[in-house]
Amino acid sequence: MGILVVGSVAFDSVETPFGVVEEVLGGSATYFATAASYFTDVSLVAVVGGDFPEEHADFLRSRNIDLRGLVRNPGDTFRWKGRYGYDLNEAQTLETRLNVFESFKPSIPPEYADADFVFLANIDPDLQMEVLRQVNKPRIIASDTMNFWISSKPEALKKVIGKVDILIINDAEARQLSREPNLVKSARMILSLGVKTLIVKRGEYGVLMFAGNSIFAAPAYPLEKVFDPTGAGDTFAGGFIGYLANTGNLTDAGIRQAIIFGSVMASFTVEDFSLNRIKSLDYREIEERYRGFKAMTHFEDIPEPE
Ligand code: AMP
Repeated sequence: MGILVVGSVAFDSVETPFGVVEEVLGGSATYFATAASYFTDVSLVAVVGGDFPEEHADFLRSRNIDLRGLVRNPGDTFRWKGRYGYDLNEAQTLETRLNVFESFKPSIPPEYADADFVFLANIDPDLQMEVLRQVNKPRIIASDTMNFWISSKPEALKKVIGKVDILIINDAEARQLSREPNLVKSARMILSLGVKTLIVKRGEYGVLMFAGNSIFAAPAYPLEKVFDPTGAGDTFAGGFIGYLANTGNLTDAGIRQAIIFGSVMASFTVEDFSLNRIKSLDYREIEERYRGFKAMTHFEDIPEPE
């Protein structure tokens, strides 16, 4: 079962306490598609400018990502500049240059319109909606967003959220969207918008999943080496949706396993800048870290009261 992803393909300039990179490959769709490509077929819809080097497209193709929906328009590729302090949990956006995204109207190639899984990565909610108009009843629609869109296009965003099955956002975004500081109450409000499953990413504290009466908490993998959290959220989403699409198992148990695969992929991303660490993983490394998660979170039950 394949995934259609629409989102940004970008040049990122990032500063963390551990180093600085300029104009490296980034973007929400790039991280998502790369992570998901370890589990299933991925088709990508996005726009880049004339300045986008062929070697980046070659890399995505080398991961078997279908690029028939990657449009090259005159102008410059989207650029994002961000900074992290020692608390690596929240990026400070220094600059967002939409460039070719300003006039982009996504057109879904007919061969993608029947995708079973659609992921609306972080991008203008009007463009996310435009994609939903062009697809034929996917089994699952999942989406992400960010503070930039919650404050600049709240109404358009709420319309999109009303149509998605799974919303994947971070804790600050959940609070901002619901205007509720308590995360459990915030989750309840967001679920009342029609979302079936809400995943709240909490950086180095892991993720929380809310669906009906079910709550699941997964930690982040404790790493000694964390260089750059950029893309962790999109990589999480790629591993998560990638695994769901691979198994087709949408039960609570299947969703919990997928959350761990998402967390595994995110743990690799933060170990290096850009996509360097997740460019060429061995599937055995992914499985090994999955088992590490299982061991780390296992504890015995207590006896029933007499
Ligand atoms: P995250 O997984 O949340 O760390 O996402 C990081 C990626 O989001 C970066 O590679 C950026 O290029 C991309 N990004 C940042 N701001 C925006 C935006 N306003 N719209 C779309 N993509 C963005």
